[in-house]
Amino acid sequence: MIDNSKHLPSFVSERNTRYAIRDTQSSRGLLFVISGPSGVGKGTLRKKIFDIFPDIKYSVSANTRSPREGEIEGRDYYFVSEEEFKKMIKEKKFVEWAIVHGDYKGTPISFLIEELQKGTDVLLELDVQGAMQVKEKFSDGIFIFLAPPTWKDLEVRLRKRNTEEEKALEKRLKDAHIELKCSKNYNYLVVNDDIKIALKKLESIIIAERCKIINYIK
Ligand code: 5GP
Repeated sequence: MIDNSKHLPSFVSERNTRYAIRDTQSSRGLLFVISGPSGVGKGTLRKKIFDIFPDIKYSVSANTRSPREGEIEGRDYYFVSEEEFKKMIKEKKFVEWAIVHGDYKGTPISFLIEELQKGTDVLLELDVQGAMQVKEKFSDGIFIFLAPPTWKDLEVRLRKRNTEEEKALEKRLKDAHIELKCSKNYNYLVVNDDIKIALKKLESIIIAERCKIINYIK
């Protein structure tokens, strides 16, 4: 039953307004998971999503790859050695972990559980292996797959980004074909052919998910 004794804030449509549309006090936060091939624009869209929804928290992953220029420890990743990462696996510190394009990446368990229990919505950006592990544990998570309009487009974007050596870039393109096949296991597919439209779609998904009746029912 919807709890009538509590005030349900109305939906506010303006951009840059903090969305307060859910009675999060009594319920667990929503878990959003975004996946998609390297170079599809996940990072850019993620940043824009946090501008629109500053109340959603991002779960920072542990990662064994070296930092790229501009990447900051604790904001983009926790950069750890392979040895430290393996120790964390043994100590069961991850909700999920996977070897992605040759590097270990994993989601720390403590942050995610604490935030969800507080009623905060959390966003994870994971590869498909990680997303499927999370789906097993959080079947009510919201899984969104970001796809490129064409393979050529993805290759052009990856080359423009200029963050990988040729061999690593080819591996990422090869992995992208495998990843796209897994998109059927997601709840939503967003094709990023136009960043503004893709962002609008992501924003709409988040708003719709937050408006679901089940979020108001105890
Ligand atoms: P990059 O090395 O370009 O930062 O990330 C490569 C891929 O790793 C991204 O597509 C991202 O979705 C994925 N990734 C980042 N963090 C995690 C994580 O904690 N777990 C898993 N499974 N994948 C991750």
